[in-house]
Amino acid sequence: QAKAESGTSYRFFATRMNEQTARAGLVEASLRRAIENDELHLNYQPIVDYASNKVVGCEALARWTDNKLGVVPPTEFIQVAEECGLIVPLGEWVLREACTFFQSCNRNGMKLESISVNISPRQCREEDFLTRLRDILHDTDMDPAHLCLEITESVMFDDQRTNPVEILTAISSLGIRISLDDFGTGYSSLSYLKRLPIDTLKVDRAFVMDLEQDQDDQALVQAIISMARSLGINVVCEGAETLEQCDLILSFGCQLIQGYHFARPMAGVDFHGYLVNMNGTDQVAAEAG
Ligand code: C2E
Ligand code: MG
Ligand code: MG
Ligand code: MG
Repeated sequence: QAKAESGTSYRFFATRMNEQTARAGLVEASLRRAIENDELHLNYQPIVDYASNKVVGCEALARWTDNKLGVVPPTEFIQVAEECGLIVPLGEWVLREACTFFQSCNRNGMKLESISVNISPRQCREEDFLTRLRDILHDTDMDPAHLCLEITESVMFDDQRTNPVEILTAISSLGIRISLDDFGTGYSSLSYLKRLPIDTLKVDRAFVMDLEQDQDDQALVQAIISMARSLGINVVCEGAETLEQCDLILSFGCQLIQGYHFARPMAGVDFHGYLVNMNGTDQVAAEAG
């Protein structure tokens, strides 16, 4: 009986493995083509200062719709890209596109302080990552102080081959800001916060999702906010979907919020409209540009 069962579950497991491998192979081949043909695009989600209701920044998020596969979620294609190395050209494209977009906002007199771009561990481990970064800043005439790189703690700090202190210090020395993304879900040592040039912590959506009901989440979010404040680090709470969540977050002393309550990630033109609507424009710059 037991033997028959484990045989069945093994076959089930093996079939699933084959399906997953096949899917990953398909995604990889299609993604390679999509990058070559410039078929990806970026969406932008506002980061709002809830105290003033002004948009202070946005996060650039990669989007891809394949002819055959349909919409492939970034969680899937970023993982495939990370595994097969396509993340290097993909990540470079994202950075360049995001900087270009930020500059287009500025030229049109929109008041946007910064743009955030997700960086994969494998990408910043590349020998020439800093050179590429410098080239992109130069080519797009981007002031590094307006660029923020989002790095997840979990993967990067877990890897013995990388020295996060070294990499992040080098990035920071270019004048670029650094956010720790999905904060609270990894298991890196808190002492990193002291040793790394971290500008902002992004509290993971998992802690915000049930904030109204969950006392433990409230305690954790409050603790993260007050710890960050003592260390002189900014905090953005991610994934706020309701007014109540935003009010709680603000009452905990965090003004910066990113979530569906304000807006979902949107196409560049729509973001332009949203920004003008929320912040107004700088007429002089708009006319000059
Ligand atoms: P992330 O960097 O943590 O980005 C935030 C994710 O949370 C986005 O999902 C965003 O749409 C979602 N989100 C924001 N507010 C809410 C909310 O109120 N409710 C809910 N349910 N979701 C919310 P998205 O765009 O699907 O991206 C997923 C992940 O894929 C990102 O998580 C990031 O890790 C990765 N990713 C996306 N674009 C890139 C990229 O260009 N490069 C790299 N390396 N990773 C990327
Ligand atoms: Mg992010
Ligand atoms: Mg995040
Ligand atoms: Mg994430």
